[in-house]
Amino acid sequence: MAVNDIQDTFGRKVKYLRLSVTDRCDFRCTYCMSEKMEFLPRSEILSLEECLQVAKTFVGLGVDKIRLTGGEPLTRKDLPWLASRIRELAGLRELTITTNGSQLAKFAQPLVQAGIDRVNISLDSLEPDTFHRITRTGNLPQVLAGIDAAIEAWGPRHVKLNTVLIRDINHLQANDLVRFALARGIDISFIEQMPLGETGYHHADSYYSNTEMLEQVKQHFEVFPSVESTGGPARYWRVSGHESRIGFISPHSHNFCADCNRMRVTARGELFPCLGNEGMVDLLPAVRAGDEGRVRDLIAQAAGLKPKAHTFDLTQPASSIVRFMSRTGG
Ligand code: SAM
Ligand code: SF4
Repeated sequence: MAVNDIQDTFGRKVKYLRLSVTDRCDFRCTYCMSEKMEFLPRSEILSLEECLQVAKTFVGLGVDKIRLTGGEPLTRKDLPWLASRIRELAGLRELTITTNGSQLAKFAQPLVQAGIDRVNISLDSLEPDTFHRITRTGNLPQVLAGIDAAIEAWGPRHVKLNTVLIRDINHLQANDLVRFALARGIDISFIEQMPLGETGYHHADSYYSNTEMLEQVKQHFEVFPSVESTGGPARYWRVSGHESRIGFISPHSHNFCADCNRMRVTARGELFPCLGNEGMVDLLPAVRAGDEGRVRDLIAQAAGLKPKAHTFDLTQPASSIVRFMSRTGG
């Protein structure tokens, strides 16, 4: 491929890679995994050197932002090493991570030192029973300690919470999460639940839209739309008298596919140009063979597969996308 960037057939440029470093996790969130997950054999997982090679190829093709994700990225051994090597890549503007926070008390400082610019931490409830009901195996005090450590290590303006709302499970607790974020000066984004994998949810019932969430917020907080754009799918609102912003990531109620600039590589080296479609190219053999030219060609091929929009359909009882979110990388 001669051109030095990635462009899809709808003229969108790909500037952002979400790189999954593992499909494993210490939690089993109900919307992300089944209770008894089968994980990939370790031999099929990209080594850290191979992850670095993938990152390098994407940055060479104009990608300037990478997010490390999973599964739970902090369950991957030597992750700070990988982060520090990716951070050295010329042309990379931002390196971030999404984590469930369970190990941040230990890893926040090493990740800052490795050059991670900002962190997203998933938190769906502050109420222990609900937290346990959603994460199945999560430990809330450990996550809260991780959030404190992240705020200390990065500073509050570089820490954001992500919350997936599920009707009748945590949606009535969402304003408590907003208060928690405001008190700490950190941002919070609400993400509409996506039908990925056989999680057992009937999405027509469990879906709680961000339109409803915004109304819920407005009943308790004085908010106004933020004029800044982060270039991502979130639409932000500001809260009078606070630094924190409230973001709404709304794949269903406010489709953002027209501005999509991202691709995802799984821990097994599969390249998904869209989270909400089955189209994929397998990078693993070419990465294992060290054939960078072939990897670049496959990335161009994936750009050609990138659809105009996702195909999530909340009216169907079963998810049309068979892969779990933990496999694709959130
Ligand atoms: N383990 C890390 C974490 O939980 O932050 C990183 C991976 S997780 C797959 C990334 C994000 O995807 C999390 O914020 C999680 O809440 C979100 N997520 C997982 N399954 C989802 C679904 N079905 N719909 C919407 N968001 C989902
Ligand atoms: Fe693990 Fe994150 Fe999925 Fe929860 S959302 S099961 S923490 S990968």
